Parts: sequence; C-alpha cells; structure tokens
Amino acid sequence: MTASSEKPSARRTFKAEEMTPGEFRAAVARRPVFILATGILEWHADHLPLGTDALKMRGIAEHLAEAAEAILLPQNWFGVVGYDEMLGTITFSKDLVKRILTEYYENLEKMGAKLVVMLTGHYGPYQVETIREAAAEYRSRSGMRIIAQPEYEGVDFSGFPCEPDHADKYETSLMMALYPHLVQMDRWRPTLQIPYDYQPRDNAWGYRSPRGTWEFSQDFAQHASPELGRRLLRAIVDHLKRRIEEELAQVA
Ligand SMILES: [Zn+2]
Repeated sequence: MTASSEKPSARRTFKAEEMTPGEFRAAVARRPVFILATGILEWHADHLPLGTDALKMRGIAEHLAEAAEAILLPQNWFGVVGYDEMLGTITFSKDLVKRILTEYYENLEKMGAKLVVMLTGHYGPYQVETIREAAAEYRSRSGMRIIAQPEYEGVDFSGFPCEPDHADKYETSLMMALYPHLVQMDRWRPTLQIPYDYQPRDNAWGYRSPRGTWEFSQDFAQHASPELGRRLLRAIVDHLKRRIEEELAQVA
C-alpha cells in the first residue's frame, strides 16, 4: 500500500462549516445537538475588542462543543440593544432577532436536531428577553428542545472574585484566556470617558445608553488574569455540559 492510497488520519471537527456532507451526516446521527453562539459588536472599553461578546461566546462554545460532542454553528452576530450610542456598536430590532433565531430553529429541526443550545455572550434584560421569547414560542409548536440563555446562567460563581460583567474582571479574564493577543492592557485605565459617538436608534424598550464616566471595579487589576479566565471557562463549560446531558435525558 502506498502512502497516497492510505486514508488520512481521522479528522474530527465539531465546526459545521468545516464538515464535509459525510462528516455532517455522521455528526448529526451520533449526537443531534447544535450550539449557536451569539454576540454583537459593542463598545467594551479601551482594552477589549468591539467583538468581545461574540468572540468570548465563540471561544466558550468551541470548548463546549468539543466537551459535549456537539455541532458548533458559525457565529451569529445579531442581537438587540445594546450601548447603541457608544463607539462601534451595532444592534438589531427585537422582531428581526427573534425572526432570525426562529429561522435557525426551523433549519436545525429540519436537519434532525434534538437539542439546540443558543448561547448569548451579549447580556442585558432585553437581549435575554428576546432570546427567551423566541425559544419559548418555537418550543410551543415543536418537540425540539432549546436551551436559550447567557453563558453564565446557572453557573456558581461563589468561588470567584467576579460575576458576569461588561468589560470588567469577568469578560477581561475570559478574553485573556481565549484571545490573549486581542487584549491590550496598556490601554486600560480605572476610569474612562464613555465615547458617545452616535445618536440613539429606536428600540422596543426605549432604552438609552448610560451616561457619564465608566468606572471599573476597584480590584480589577488585582484579579483580571488569564488564570481567572481559565477557571471561569472551565466552570462555564462544565455547567453547560451538564445542562446538555440533562436536556438529552428528556429526549424520548
Ligand atoms: Zn460584553
């Protein structure tokens, strides 16, 4: 047997966009669980990239997909308000975001999904309300199970010096662990002038960005670290993996 006729070593990818049709068919048959990671472009202080919510969610979702043997979908960048008036932020209307999620669910059910894990790295009550409503409305007319939540929901943070936040210890540490080259701590200052570059856009809640200066936690510099980020990552992935197993146990 010549080298060229040998089969290449088994390539195992959990990313849908990298799969051949045969790999996709086998992955769905093996475990019909899909992960959809969502975030938006949004101002995240001077030391973090605009894509922090989506990148953070993508990084966590990659670890989760591997740990839970789930199929990871390409990143979704559509979410609702949002610090719309701040530099670099792009948001979409509640109706549109719900419609997009509903059409994802329709497509995934068509593909044989038994469980969709829809995780948002962009927070706030409006985003959470929007993804919950879309999931609840879809579930009311389908047997497909959906977990729709921010990545942190249900995770025990009592042993951590932080809670989920915006650009503070939690997000900065996760970004340090996942994308160290995208965190520019030399640009970090304990207090910032928020860059209100834009006129507000209308949204379903009449929400407007907070005004004034941005203050970080007093102990930011003491705790923000890649080590904290790795601990957070492990706690989040472990919890979500358990949630997936719980949901799958309910699948008939
Ligand atoms: Zn964020």
